[in-house]
Amino acid sequence: MREKFSKILPNFRRHVREVEDGCWEWTGYRLAQGYGRFTVIGRTYLAHRFSWEAHFGVIPAGRIVRHLCNNKGCVNPSHLSLGDHAENMRDVREVRTRGGYQMELAPRIWAQDGQGTLW
Ligand SMILES: [Zn+2]
Repeated sequence: MREKFSKILPNFRRHVREVEDGCWEWTGYRLAQGYGRFTVIGRTYLAHRFSWEAHFGVIPAGRIVRHLCNNKGCVNPSHLSLGDHAENMRDVREVRTRGGYQMELAPRIWAQDGQGTLW
């Protein structure tokens, strides 16, 4: 698995631009919800989930990858954290409380994917 990722990572990094706040801004295709999308060897990943797996290993089934920086387009592994659905819903409420943001769509998308693999 590691070996596979080491071959893909240079390709992945070509779509990454490091910005001032330390975020790795995804410059490739973005979903309407703001998440990056990365397709490789016929498989499509959310870019931040790919980044997590490439750097830390396989995401356990049912877990989600959260953005600690609240930048959905960020794929910096050190800005990502494993969480569960409940934590993400809490994030959504916190984001909404701070105001100005639209409702996060992530929990709904995650719920639609029964495997928890793609998202
Ligand atoms: Zn970030």
